This record gives sequence, structure tokens and C-alpha cells, in this order.
Amino acid sequence: MTQTLNIVGGGLAGSEAAWQAARAGAKVVLHEMRPATGTFAHQTGKLAEMVCSNSFRSDDDEQNAVGLLHWEMRQAGGLIMSMADAHRLPAGGALAVDREAFSAAVTEKLIHHPNITLQTTELKNLPGDGSWIIATGPLTSAPLGEALRAETGAEALAFFDAIAPIVYADSIDMEKAWFQSRYDKGETPQERTAYLNCPMDRDQYEAFIDALLAADKTEFHAGETAGYFNGCLPIEVMAERGRETLRHGPMKPVGLTNPHQPQVKPHAVVQLRRDNALGTLFNIVGFQTKMKYGAQAAVFKMIPGLENARFARLGGIHRNTFLNAPTLLDDRLRLKSRPNLRFAGQITGVEGYVESAAMGLLAGRLAVAEMQGRTLPPIPHVTATGALLHHITGGADAKSFQPMNVNFGLFPPVEGLRGGRRGRRDRYKAYTDRAKAAWLEWLAA
Ligand SMILES: Cc1cc2nc3c(=O)[nH]c(=O)nc-3n(C[C@H](O)[C@H](O)[C@H](O)COP(=O)(O)OP(=O)(O)OC[C@H]3O[C@@H](n4cnc5c(N)ncnc54)[C@H](O)[C@@H]3O)c2cc1C
Repeated sequence: MTQTLNIVGGGLAGSEAAWQAARAGAKVVLHEMRPATGTFAHQTGKLAEMVCSNSFRSDDDEQNAVGLLHWEMRQAGGLIMSMADAHRLPAGGALAVDREAFSAAVTEKLIHHPNITLQTTELKNLPGDGSWIIATGPLTSAPLGEALRAETGAEALAFFDAIAPIVYADSIDMEKAWFQSRYDKGETPQERTAYLNCPMDRDQYEAFIDALLAADKTEFHAGETAGYFNGCLPIEVMAERGRETLRHGPMKPVGLTNPHQPQVKPHAVVQLRRDNALGTLFNIVGFQTKMKYGAQAAVFKMIPGLENARFARLGGIHRNTFLNAPTLLDDRLRLKSRPNLRFAGQITGVEGYVESAAMGLLAGRLAVAEMQGRTLPPIPHVTATGALLHHITGGADAKSFQPMNVNFGLFPPVEGLRGGRRGRRDRYKAYTDRAKAAWLEWLAA
């Protein structure tokens, strides 16, 4: 194979695509604009930087669709998963990682691979010929975004996610907070105590909701839409939907016992999760926000245990660029109008680190097979990877297309199983068993 595969964007998707292609024998040039040109969210020049949460979410490959996606990527020799496993932090049933060690390790692996050349370049125009994967993510640079808009004729959609704040551990009052994972979930003592909990009584909760509702929020720029992605709603938007919404969401008090007052059931609980291996930083779980910085500090210090909190990073809002994939991409992630350009990652309309990396894995494999003159069999729809791919390139309604997390709703039903809540465990197990068999068969082919 003499042709080179060019990959643009060294994020979660581009890094995985480069790894998969290089392993399969392709010569890869990975074009990443950082550190010469940055984005507002990335803070380093490293590859596969996690810009917000340090979690890859559930690692349960029997009962959870994202856990199944982890499994599929591990089976495919995925770099993102192997480095996440190597830099795992205790987080109950979730896969949380030490973000700095993780992205440093991905960078090392890629730059030392003999088939990969890393170039610090910003792609500003769409390339004419050759094999390309574009994985420039939700913060695709403006010139390339404009070039894509001109090529596709479609409006790139924009919406806002919000960044959760990070607190210094030594500023948390441990007379009030305590370590415990919900329902003491986890294999090891460390995992069973992966979260820091801050309890609230009814009055504290009501005062907190009032403060959230009254706080100064960041204004949207003219022409920007404020359509939030439901999986990542800012905390104050959740509060606007109803005073009890947070008690049923990130602040639910179930499965936790306050050792400082074991007889008193908290009315609500704020959870913080370890954000680095040293245990010096904790992020406030589910507290993405678009409150102004000054307001954030005041409101979050109302949380018992965080009265004297120091923030390593406050929350923020961000823009997300993605293609209308159902109309623009074929089922091999190629731009229909220019099949030498393949897309991967969040720009294809998937949402999340894991989903983005999974689309990178697929794009890398598909590109190499094509360069080698092979056609891979269709990616089975019953797998997590296939279900996502099918959704973005055909299953989703193009008119109302919004970024999608992997979930069992994207899977074709398994016939003959009990419906409803009671049958859920059996149903999910049947989905994951079926997916695993199909994925292994596809990989072998
Ligand atoms: C602020 C923010 C917070 C997020 N929080 C989370 C979260 O907590 N959990 C979660 O699962 N997902 C989160 N996401 C969504 C998404 O899953 C991640 O952004 C993920 O990193 C997407 O992977 P990607 O590879 O598609 O893009 P990225 O990881 O962003 O990688 C794209 C890369 O392309 C580079 N690039 C951009 N334009 C060019 C160009 N023209 N030429 C060359 N290089 C270019 C960028 O520098 C970047 O390195 C968040 C997104 C944002 C923006």
C-alpha cells in the first residue's frame, strides 16, 4: 500500500482512527492544529485530550450500551480503551481516567508508531484528492467549518453543552462530606468510596434552588440557538424545569448514608468525583452550568461542605459543530459528494468521548480496507458500534437530527422477550450477548 491516509484532528476519534489504520499497515499523517492553534476548551497540545468530564461512563458490558461499546472497542484492539484502562481511577461502576496521564500515553503511542507522522497543521480547505478522515470535533476551526458549509450547502448546527466545575480536594470540609459510592457499588474498597457526598436538608435545598434560578447566566450571542442536548443540561436549566428535578437527577439522595448523621436522611446530595490520580481535584457530578463565574462561586459555596471551596475550574458553555449526517454521509462514513473524505467523531453527530472514539475506530478500519482494495462486510446493526453508525447515517430523522449517545433504543429489538421494566435485565443481557457474537464475527471477517 503506497497511498497515505491523512487524518485531520488528533482528538478522541482521530487518534483512534490513526491507531487502527497504522496497525493495519497504512502510512498515516495525522494533522492536528494544536498547540499552534487552540480551541477555547482544550488546554494542552496533547492528543486525545478530554475537555470536560474525566469519565467514559458505565463500564458494564452486560447491562449498559456504553459499557458494550467499551467492550467492542477493546476487542478491536482500540488504543483509547487500552490507555483508559491503563489510567483508570476508582469510580464505582464507571470508567473514570486520569486525564493527563491518559492523553500523554495516547500521544506517546501514536508519535512512536513507525507508520504515523504527526504534523502541526490546521486544515483550512477541503482537500481535493487522496484518502482523508476528518475528525475535527465539536470545535472544528472556523475556516474548515466554513469550507464544509460551502461544500455541503447544509447549515452546520450549533448548540451548547456546559462544563462542570472542578474543586480542590483540600478545600472540602470533611466534617460534612463523606466518601461513598451510591449503594456502595464497586469491587474494591476504593471503588466503593469513589465519590464525595455533600448532604442538604430541605431548607438548604430550597435555598439552593432559589439561588440557581436567580443567578446571573451567560447571554447567548446573536444568532446562536439555545437548544441544549438533553444528556448534558446545565444545572440551572434543570432547576427551571421544576424544583424537584435535581432531586431526581444529579442530586438524588438514594443509596447513601451520611456517617456524620446516620439517623438523618438527606433531602438531597451533591456528589463529587475524583478528577485526577492524585486525588487532589474533584468535579461536581452533573453540575454543568452556564452561570456567570462570580455567580457560580457564590451558589456552589452554599453546598454544605463546599463553603470554603476553591475552584480549579469553573463551569462554562461551549459550541458544538456537527454535520447533518443522515443526509450527507453514506453508511461507510464517506461524504456522499466527495467519497474520498470520510468523517469520524463528534462531527458525525454522535455525542460523547466513547462514541466519538468508536466512530474513529470504524473510520480508520474502513479507510484502510478501501485503500487495500477490500470491502468490509456491513457493520452489524445489532452491535453498539453498528447501532450508532446506522442511526447517524440512516436511522435518524434528518429534519430533527441531533447528536446521539449510544443507547439500547438504537438496537433492533430481540424477539420473544418480556417487555417493560420487569424484563429489562433479560432484555439488555440478550442485546449485549447478541452484539458480542456479531461483533466478533465482523472483526474476524
Ligand atoms: C467543552 C466540551 C465539553 C465536552 N464534555 C464532554 C464530556 O464531559 N463527556 C463526553 O463524553 N463528551 C464531552 N464532549 C463532547 C465530545 O465527546 C468531545 O468533545 C470529544 O472530544 C469529541 O471527540 P472528537 O475526536 O470528535 O473531537 P475532539 O476530541 O475535540 O478532537 C478534534 C481535534 O481536532 C482538532 N482540530 C479542529 N479543527 C482542526 C483543523 N481545522 N485542522 C486540524 N485540527 C483541527 C482539535 O484541536 C482537536 O484536537 C464535550 C465537548 C466539548 C466541546
